[in-house]
Amino acid sequence: MVRQTNPGSAAYCAWSQQNGPNKALIFSSIFISFKGVIDGVGAGCRSLIGVDGTHLKGNYGGILKDCNRGDDWCIMSDRQKGIDPALTELWPEVKRSATSPFTFKKAMNRIKKANHLALVWLSKLGDQERWTKHKYDPKICSDENTSNFVESSNATLGVDRCRPILTLLEGIRRVCMTRIASRRQKCQDWNNADPCPNIVKRIRKLMHDSRTCKAYQSRKGEYEIMEGKSMLPVSLNNKNCICGVWQTTGIPCRHAIRAILAAGYDPHRYVSTWYSGRAYKQAYAHHINTIPDHEHWP
Ligand SMILES: [Zn+2]
Repeated sequence: MVRQTNPGSAAYCAWSQQNGPNKALIFSSIFISFKGVIDGVGAGCRSLIGVDGTHLKGNYGGILKDCNRGDDWCIMSDRQKGIDPALTELWPEVKRSATSPFTFKKAMNRIKKANHLALVWLSKLGDQERWTKHKYDPKICSDENTSNFVESSNATLGVDRCRPILTLLEGIRRVCMTRIASRRQKCQDWNNADPCPNIVKRIRKLMHDSRTCKAYQSRKGEYEIMEGKSMLPVSLNNKNCICGVWQTTGIPCRHAIRAILAAGYDPHRYVSTWYSGRAYKQAYAHHINTIPDHEHWP
């Protein structure tokens, strides 16, 4: 029905066959990706996949995973049991993820002093690219963190988490369908070149927070920002601050904001275009078609 009502969608289901005399088929997993979502993500989203395992309640049990994607993919997971090994198997080459190599090494040394076993545990996590921020690809521009994924998906599902599989999937599909529609409506009047309203709000707060910083110019676009006892170099030319936040999120940190304001520029112009009204509109330009209830299925 998914493929029939939403052509171009991906829908796969897996069963295993029991050994007994009746060779019964037992449901194991299902994967669904709607055309409307694939197109939106392809047009307006960053190269990031968030993998979240929501444990289902009730008599049925199981894990529900929610993904968002891009081209040169980055995958974030909560390293929950079962999910990380599964990802390693599927995408051994992708990067998953601290911000500067120097501060990372320093932090690791501190961990080593505090508890040697903790360091052993961390070393067993495998390739650093997959869990440290300093090895994290800056062009991904993610402001998400893994716990956000879990919370958002639990809140979205609500009571549906206890339901049988079809009811659950139908519930999720309907939430996705209406969410895309309401977001498409919401962004209609937004300016394409400006950052989205929630980012504008964040910039306003950062401008307020940046009052505790003082900017010292070195040359055009190059500043040292003093905040308390720390001195942080900010380069407007390279769009980075040594704190690492600007590079990883695509949104200037309060240090960078102080430098931008000192230079007499508009902080909104320094936000990554991934947060623009245009990108938001592209992400929600498509839709999920309606599907009748299962009395009407073949
Ligand atoms: Zn900073």
